[in-house]
Amino acid sequence: YRSFGIDRTNSMGINLANDDQLRTLAEQVNAAARSEWRATPLVPGANAAGPDIAVTNPADRRQVVGQWKAADSATVEKAVQNAVAAHDAWNMTPAASRAAILEHAADLLEQRMPQYIALCTREAGKSIPDGVAEVREAVDFLRYYAAQARKQFAIEPLPGPTGESNTLQLSGRGVFVCISPWNFPLAIFLGQVAAALAAGNSVLAKPAEQTNLIGYYAVKLLHEAGVPEAVVQFLPGDGATVGAALTKDPRIAGVAFTGSTDTARAINRALAARDAAIGVLIAETGGQNALIADSSSLPEQVVKDAIASAFTSAGQRCSAARVLFVQDDIADKVTTMLAGAMAELKVGDPGLLSTDVGPVIDEDALKMLRDHAERMDREATKVAEVALDADAANGSFFAPRAYTLKSLDQLHKEIFGPVLHVIRWKADQLDAVIDQINATGYGLTLGIHSRIDETIEKIASRIKVGNCYVNRNQIGAVVGVQPFGGQNLSGTGPKAGGPHYLPRFATEKTITVNT
Ligand code: GLU
Repeated sequence: YRSFGIDRTNSMGINLANDDQLRTLAEQVNAAARSEWRATPLVPGANAAGPDIAVTNPADRRQVVGQWKAADSATVEKAVQNAVAAHDAWNMTPAASRAAILEHAADLLEQRMPQYIALCTREAGKSIPDGVAEVREAVDFLRYYAAQARKQFAIEPLPGPTGESNTLQLSGRGVFVCISPWNFPLAIFLGQVAAALAAGNSVLAKPAEQTNLIGYYAVKLLHEAGVPEAVVQFLPGDGATVGAALTKDPRIAGVAFTGSTDTARAINRALAARDAAIGVLIAETGGQNALIADSSSLPEQVVKDAIASAFTSAGQRCSAARVLFVQDDIADKVTTMLAGAMAELKVGDPGLLSTDVGPVIDEDALKMLRDHAERMDREATKVAEVALDADAANGSFFAPRAYTLKSLDQLHKEIFGPVLHVIRWKADQLDAVIDQINATGYGLTLGIHSRIDETIEKIASRIKVGNCYVNRNQIGAVVGVQPFGGQNLSGTGPKAGGPHYLPRFATEKTITVNT
């Protein structure tokens, strides 16, 4: 892939269509799975001494896959001091040298793909194909932001009168806090951190509490590649001790955050309330993503893409389709085919290649989904529910299901898991459908299935979303190819993996010299 004038190629990973390659990879991944993974805060000069906390496998809670220690308040304070002290030297390191370090990290990560996939499988319940995509995306973010830094951080000469030289230069803002989600514990974690580093910031990385091990080994890799230990520090811990304390701290220049809209609001308030410069927030938040299929679309294709969009990664993607709006002429056919296709889905151990849908992340997620299913069983019509094996009881498994709803009002919030809701619409209701989707206030992804150009153009131009996908699935945005991120309640922008992301981590300085 080429993008935006940058000579850069995305990683190829392995060919998932090649059975031999896939089987070899699965063997390597399963061999790399261990139980002695350990994560601790990575803060030079701090003595973390908290208790070990066990990490268990979401697919089988009887298996302990590692241990982690949380950062306490003293460790957080030491990390901020280190980051402040380290910032100038890193910011004055030429952008090309910072980029070379990130590219080295990308090479190391690519070489160690099986180990990192094993971590993603065992700690986050990712399937092997999802693990491959996760590592590739992380590699691509590292290389993409490195390439963007080389280009965008070069000193730009500006026109001016004779006898005067004017230049514009981007420079790191200071100490950046990166707070990442468990659903992309390597790709989004490293994407945020790589962008902040490429732009010349020192970074405090707070992983999601469910995926500390993956975050730890990602930061170790950056250190090995040459990022100084005080320039990227790792702070696992609870939201109040780490996240909330940092966002209140006047020494923090900005926060990159992926997670809920409510938390993004709280961070924004904290950044503005400090007796300091108003910190910048780059937030990617939730969605209530729809797929609109009209009567000209091919039912087979609609069903295939709806299943991929709703159930890949157990529906635990911000981009996932939650609501399929299907025109009534094809609705019976689509729902019958949907039920048939869902009956073929295999839910189970994400380490097995035969698995389509793995576990959800934890018991809280499971409870939220069960509560939702209970309400749907009362208020909606079930289209299908996938069968679970008896041993699913050992892990956090939720059977994927689909319901027919009367109206979008029946969904009060984003349901972050493998549940698809189907709503029928009539030919004269297309505008009303678009209005309803826009009225949710979210604006992340939209799928369109149609073979009528005017319909596609109308929906795509009226809908308020960040990523619109036509006649394909609506997940798996590729770095530099489909810059990713939403509008309104779905995030602040700029888009991850796009050309405008890096400058948001930077300040601009104009230098005028009387020559
Ligand atoms: N970029 C991912 C995708 O396109 C989703 C990211 C997220 O879930 O936060 O599927």
